[in-house]
Amino acid sequence: MSPYFFWSVVYFILGLIMGSFLNVCIYRMPRGLSIIAPPSHCPECNSGILWYDNIPVVSYLFLKGRCRQCGKPIPALYLIVEVLTALLFLSAYLFSYTVPAIMFKIVLFSVLVLASFIDIKHFVIPDESNLIGFIFAVLMSTLFPHLQSRDIWYLALGDSLLGAFAGFLTLGFVSFAGSRLLKKDAMGFGDVKFIAMIGAFTGWKLVLLTIMTASFIGAVLGGALMLFKTRNLKGRIPFGPYLAAGAVISVLFGKAIIGWYFSFCGIS
Ligand SMILES: [Zn+2]
Repeated sequence: MSPYFFWSVVYFILGLIMGSFLNVCIYRMPRGLSIIAPPSHCPECNSGILWYDNIPVVSYLFLKGRCRQCGKPIPALYLIVEVLTALLFLSAYLFSYTVPAIMFKIVLFSVLVLASFIDIKHFVIPDESNLIGFIFAVLMSTLFPHLQSRDIWYLALGDSLLGAFAGFLTLGFVSFAGSRLLKKDAMGFGDVKFIAMIGAFTGWKLVLLTIMTASFIGAVLGGALMLFKTRNLKGRIPFGPYLAAGAVISVLFGKAIIGWYFSFCGIS
């Protein structure tokens, strides 16, 4: 077995385990519950979940998506979060050259999944995950300057802070202008703090690309939803998941996209 394949499997499984933990956080954090205690229990019948019923994906399939005690369906969302996190961990490994770079992406992707699913369900992005992500990004950039494509620690630190500032300012301006023009809150301040956290990871170029990509996905998906009328569009649509998707695309393909764009425009 090649080491490449071995580590791919390891990171995929680590992603499944992290996804399982994120499911707990997604359920408990917006409800103000502790994410450590008590151990996992069924939200329907409150009975404890045995360790062999708590193995990511495997247990879900084995139990055919139902609680062993009460037989109530376990939302497919749990499965989706686990598989999605596993795929993101795998791509973090495949798209990185150093261990710190893998860790950097893994933490960012975990925070993005956490914030997105809480935003979808509760229209809020927790300050805790933004703060933890921001501090991690700034510290890691300072300790491992190559994460910001730098040789010197204070330049990498500057890039990380500048990324946060650029994201904060850009989306903050959109939020402010939008609320003035539409006479209602177009975008929550939570999104502005969220993009600042993302910017601390990506630096200023990729945070701007993140906002552009998120707006593009939002426009396309929003148009499609309106076309098929699958959803009542009068309600607020959370922007967090779009920003998260934009961030993943920017982190994995951003350098290629920017390179392509500038060669396309005849600038080199
Ligand atoms: Zn149950």
